[in-house]
Amino acid sequence: MTRLTLPNEDIPAVVARLRAEFATGRTKPLAWRLEQLAALRALLTEQAEAFQQALHADLGKNAAEAYRTEIGFTLNELDHTVAHLEEWLRPKPAAVPEFFRPAQARVVRDPLGVVLIIAPWNYPLQLALAPLVGALAAGNTAVVKPSELAPATSAAIAELLPRYLGADTVAVVEGAVAETTALLEQRFDHIFYTGNGAVGRIVMAAAAKHLTPVTLELGGKSPVVVEPGADLAVTARRIARGKFLNAGQTCVAPDYVLAIGDSAAGLEKELAAAVTELFGEEPSASPAYGRIVNERHFDRLTALLGDGRTVTGGGHDRGTRYLAPTVLADVPATAPVMQAEIFGPILPVLAVPDLDAAIAFINERDKPLALYAFTESEDTKRRLAEETSSGALSFGLPVSHLAMPELPFGGVGESGMGRYHGEYSIETFSHAKAVVDKPLV
Ligand code: NAD
Repeated sequence: MTRLTLPNEDIPAVVARLRAEFATGRTKPLAWRLEQLAALRALLTEQAEAFQQALHADLGKNAAEAYRTEIGFTLNELDHTVAHLEEWLRPKPAAVPEFFRPAQARVVRDPLGVVLIIAPWNYPLQLALAPLVGALAAGNTAVVKPSELAPATSAAIAELLPRYLGADTVAVVEGAVAETTALLEQRFDHIFYTGNGAVGRIVMAAAAKHLTPVTLELGGKSPVVVEPGADLAVTARRIARGKFLNAGQTCVAPDYVLAIGDSAAGLEKELAAAVTELFGEEPSASPAYGRIVNERHFDRLTALLGDGRTVTGGGHDRGTRYLAPTVLADVPATAPVMQAEIFGPILPVLAVPDLDAAIAFINERDKPLALYAFTESEDTKRRLAEETSSGALSFGLPVSHLAMPELPFGGVGESGMGRYHGEYSIETFSHAKAVVDKPLV
């Protein structure tokens, strides 16, 4: 394991070392892969406290949330992979047309080589190491580039990971644009990027030069549709829990609510109650509530507070990067808060007359990473499933689909391309090779 900052001249040497290791063939046997995953497991369990401290320093995450959404989350993904890896790697027999018999055919999962993982700051541990679980399980070596905007977690990964995984297997390269640009000049066999779409385009353009496949895990505005028949107290509680987790800095957080018919007024009241239930009368004093990652994002978010009517929240303090869980009502679709992903603890509620209007609203915009709906109507569920496109669709439970390792996690259109978690990570980080074998008789 290598920790690098500048000079970037070292980067080609690091990639060459990882490539040389892959070329030995050592990374291919199941035993090697399980060994790496066991080492990663030891890192996460033995160093859990150090990671919790780093996540608190970067994002004000309390220890329980840091464990649940980062360390425990990654362990869950890892354990699911270890339990199923042998079965996933088994060659899959394929049917052979009569004409070619007695030939046999199968599909085998070939590792790709050296993988580059570029992680963002909002779940800085999980989003660096959960893709690494897949990359190693699929038999690759990897470079991990943590986010410079979560410097404590980046430093912890760079410091601690090399104690558990070999320098020829995983290299951690810390840094910002200069270091990532230098990395992207290298030839990788797959690039796995999580972050915003503007950088996603830079990554894809760089990958194109080497014809390197990419996975882009991006974001966008994930809507929540609420129908009048839904239990508004339950609905508000679940929306608030998903929205204000990590102070709204979650890629699959509900971005805004489309409240159908007369549900808006009742929902607003229940959302205010849910915020109090979650974080008390003074959320700034609640250990369960996080902080905005930096001043730039804090200023971007507070500039959005002028839109609509404030139902709850609005309070903020730049010194501690605190922004209260905020619900805005009567927000026009043209308001600045409705133009880009909010990625913070501000929840606009927009009233729409009916389901047709809600579906039209969603379809006029970029395909979201997730679409949520609270409804008792099976017909509404069917219409949303058939008439909209999104990375994921969840009824009655925002955010949680990403913690279900048998589900693919990824976006569509502007919210990304490709998918991972569980067996989908093996598909992402390997090549499905067609093998035919006909006896010479
Ligand atoms: P970020 O600023 O940490 O950037 C992500 C990575 O890109 C970092 O490692 C950074 O160093 C690198 N980077 C930044 N500028 C670059 C450049 N010019 N060239 C090369 N590399 C560069 O994180 P972010 O982009 O602010 O992340 C937030 C976005 O990520 C949101 O849109 C969110 O929805 C999305 N996101 C998506 C997922 C997902 O799984 N789909 C998860 C988390 C976040």
